[in-house]
Amino acid sequence: MDKPASVPDRFDAVVVGAGFSGLYMLYRLRQLGLSVKVFDSAGDVGGTWYWNRYPGARCDIPTTDYTYSFDPELEKEWTWSEKYATQPEILDYLRFVADRHGLRSDIEFSTTVTSARWDEPGKQWRITTGGGREVRCRYYIMATGCLSMPKSPDIDGAGRFAGQVYFTSRWPHEGADLTGQRVAVIGTGSSGIQSIPLIARQARQLTVFQRTANFSIPAHNGPPPAGRLQQLDGDRDAYRHAARWSRGGVPLEPTDVLGVTASEAVRRERFEAAWEQGELFGILNVFADQGVNPPSNDIVAEMIREKIRAAVEDPETAEALCPKDHYFGTKRPCLDTGYFETYNLPHVRLVDLRKQPIVSITEDGIETADESFGFDAIVYATGFDAMTGALVGADVAGRDGVSLREKWAAGPSTYLGLMTAGFPNFFMLTGPGSPSVLSNMTVSIEQHVDWVARCLEDLRDEGLETIEPTAQAEAGWDQHVQDCGAITLYPTANSWYMGANVPGKPRVFLPYIGGVDAYRQACDEVATRDYLGFRMTGPGGTRCRDGVVRSMQPDVAMVMEFVNALGLPPMETLSAADARALMTATAENRPPGPEVGKVTDGVIPGPDGDLPYRLYRPAGPFEGPRPLVVYFHGGGWVLGNLDSDDPLCRDLCARSGAVVVSVNYRHAPEVRFPAAALDAFAAVQWADANAIELGGIPGQLAVAGWSAGANVAAVACQLARDAGGPHITGQLLLCPAVDSDLTRPSYEENGDGYILTTALMRWFWDHYADPADRGDPRAAPLRGDLAGLPPACIVAADFDPLRDEGVAYARALEAAGVPVRLARARGHTHTSVTMVDVVISGAPVRAEMAAALGDFFPAAEPPAHVS
Ligand SMILES: Cc1cc2nc3c(=O)[nH]c(=O)nc-3n(C[C@H](O)[C@H](O)[C@H](O)COP(=O)(O)OP(=O)(O)OC[C@H]3O[C@@H](n4cnc5c(N)ncnc54)[C@H](O)[C@@H]3O)c2cc1C
Repeated sequence: MDKPASVPDRFDAVVVGAGFSGLYMLYRLRQLGLSVKVFDSAGDVGGTWYWNRYPGARCDIPTTDYTYSFDPELEKEWTWSEKYATQPEILDYLRFVADRHGLRSDIEFSTTVTSARWDEPGKQWRITTGGGREVRCRYYIMATGCLSMPKSPDIDGAGRFAGQVYFTSRWPHEGADLTGQRVAVIGTGSSGIQSIPLIARQARQLTVFQRTANFSIPAHNGPPPAGRLQQLDGDRDAYRHAARWSRGGVPLEPTDVLGVTASEAVRRERFEAAWEQGELFGILNVFADQGVNPPSNDIVAEMIREKIRAAVEDPETAEALCPKDHYFGTKRPCLDTGYFETYNLPHVRLVDLRKQPIVSITEDGIETADESFGFDAIVYATGFDAMTGALVGADVAGRDGVSLREKWAAGPSTYLGLMTAGFPNFFMLTGPGSPSVLSNMTVSIEQHVDWVARCLEDLRDEGLETIEPTAQAEAGWDQHVQDCGAITLYPTANSWYMGANVPGKPRVFLPYIGGVDAYRQACDEVATRDYLGFRMTGPGGTRCRDGVVRSMQPDVAMVMEFVNALGLPPMETLSAADARALMTATAENRPPGPEVGKVTDGVIPGPDGDLPYRLYRPAGPFEGPRPLVVYFHGGGWVLGNLDSDDPLCRDLCARSGAVVVSVNYRHAPEVRFPAAALDAFAAVQWADANAIELGGIPGQLAVAGWSAGANVAAVACQLARDAGGPHITGQLLLCPAVDSDLTRPSYEENGDGYILTTALMRWFWDHYADPADRGDPRAAPLRGDLAGLPPACIVAADFDPLRDEGVAYARALEAAGVPVRLARARGHTHTSVTMVDVVISGAPVRAEMAAALGDFFPAAEPPAHVS
């Protein structure tokens, strides 16, 4: 019910929602001295905790952590009675907060915002509520919640049922008495799993309809854990600070134990400890690699399935309750109290909808493909249109009348999950593209609100009126959000994180999985870099420092952080021998790369003695002769050997199905220019002459190399052309060194801080070639005649000092009439694509490299599958 228009119709800010987000936003805006109006459809404060009153409703983050931290006095005055508090207690808490800060006077309850329109001339938002009343404001803030728009049941005949119908997300305030009734529960997500044990206590007969079995672990609820209370009492500020800078919003030391390499005893011990602890972030942190590596994930998943089988007496029911269609964690895992044991009660039955789907709801029950069921009540625990439902549900239209729904038709697009281009002065709290549902939301909410408050304060201080992200900044953030998701197993699940629970909703990974800490760092950086990626306007004109805040692949960034933390001496300060030793040592514990059919070592005759080689034969279906790739390792003509690029060679072999022959050439400074290039050419001649013995197909010979190896591969192509053979069908050049000019922009941009530095490149050149020789095409192939060279695939990495010379080589080859495929290793460094099974985001680049090899050999069979 909307109230009459007895309040001023213009505010500095309108906030929609009076849950955790809206209440704190109101508090902060008031602190800034702004006039604020908050609307909520609910009859009181609380948001989630106002609506979700079903039996068993509780938080699933320990309440000591799922709480505001902005008011130290409040923290002293309120104590939580349980580890996981119930809905009534959390609602009481939010009421207490509202009363303590006198927040209700600015909130209009039972008032739904139906539309919001940006008024460009007035530089304001026009907000319409359910009763048709309009208010205007400069800043429009949606604190409408990630899980606040219930998903309507998409089941035929849902409106026909004559008995009682309940939705967990809209449970009646007076409660529901199900005593002695025949009850159906549809849905086994978090709400279903929490409510089923309690509904079973009342119902005469309970039938649970399950479409997807979900992972759940026992909450072990009780008083708040003593250890946690001690930590808080000891140093509350430090604890809250640690939460803000943690990955999930709860202080936790991330493990470095890998599931795949841990012993069985360690695996079991870590799992049992997490099981006993009964906390989500604990069970998600049994192994460092469980979220990214299927075999590691399987270990945890199978241990949980063992627990389910042990808890449920009927083997068929137990098996149906065992999740098998998604990796553990890729759908939100649940915390329960006696959920699985409930199925041992004689009056409780599970119906597996995968085996007998619901055909329709009837007047007196439910009909499945196999059976008719009679019920007195149906409980829908069918979840939410998560993360975007409430936002697009409110009909928000930005500049030129474009609605959020239209703009997001193919999936949401935001900058930092906070704003979206085309919608000036419109903020979302916990929007898509922010950590939100993957985090302890109270920590994320406080961070969002604080950021928005600081932003509005800065705008005011600078005399600015509007703020809005640029298209470039937003596209960059969207990409980063997807990149972070893509290196995990999360996008493989049909989850609500992916929008997969709502028919017709685009499949996009919605939350930001890079971590609360990384997210906070990005937001802070944006603000301190003069609101990087935002356009701000005021009477004095427009201000914009455009750019992308995160463009490095997230796993590359992690490796860089790790390497920098090692504090290794710069290579260029070492002797060649020490640099080689350091390179060997750092490669010691890396993963070996994929299995291939056969690996053999040998030697070939070089121009001045034998050269070692290692041959990789593909496995499986690739019997018989295969195309041949002669590969040259990287290392600036100084470092590297057959071992250094071994995982990459295995990967190329397995992906392409080609025989890869990795040849070690002579190194500088012991043997300088042009020895390495001449060795490479000799190796190609030898491989061509011995193609059949090597298991190759005569005439199907390509060269490949990385960095300096790509340099000698490129030179070998030029020498082969000049010598009239051998015929090379293609050249695959990964981050090639093709010129001795160290002044290109990529040297300026990336010459420091990304492992291969300008200083190191100079050191390599000094070791390899006299200045007088550096313009020779056998040292700098970019300066040679490029006509008549084999087709090329050149990979240029964004954060590589050599990026621009690689691109220049591609352009020059093209200009000389050579077919070229220029592959961009987006967000990668000079070294990261070679880090097989360490940098997961390198896999698609290597897949493209293998595809390019396939294109060089049109007659060969399709490449082997490597994930
Ligand atoms: C059962 C359940 C348990 C949860 N447990 C946890 C937990 O343990 N830990 C955790 O971190 N998170 C949990 N969550 C997520 C929870 O939603 C957030 O933690 C938090 O409560 C969100 O607060 P909010 O203020 O952002 O949104 P909400 O609490 O969802 O509040 C949004 C409000 O906006 C109002 N609204 C929306 N659209 C309109 C409109 N157009 N007009 C007017 N009003 C509107 C709604 O009525 C609602 O009151 C849980 C969610 C559910 C459903």
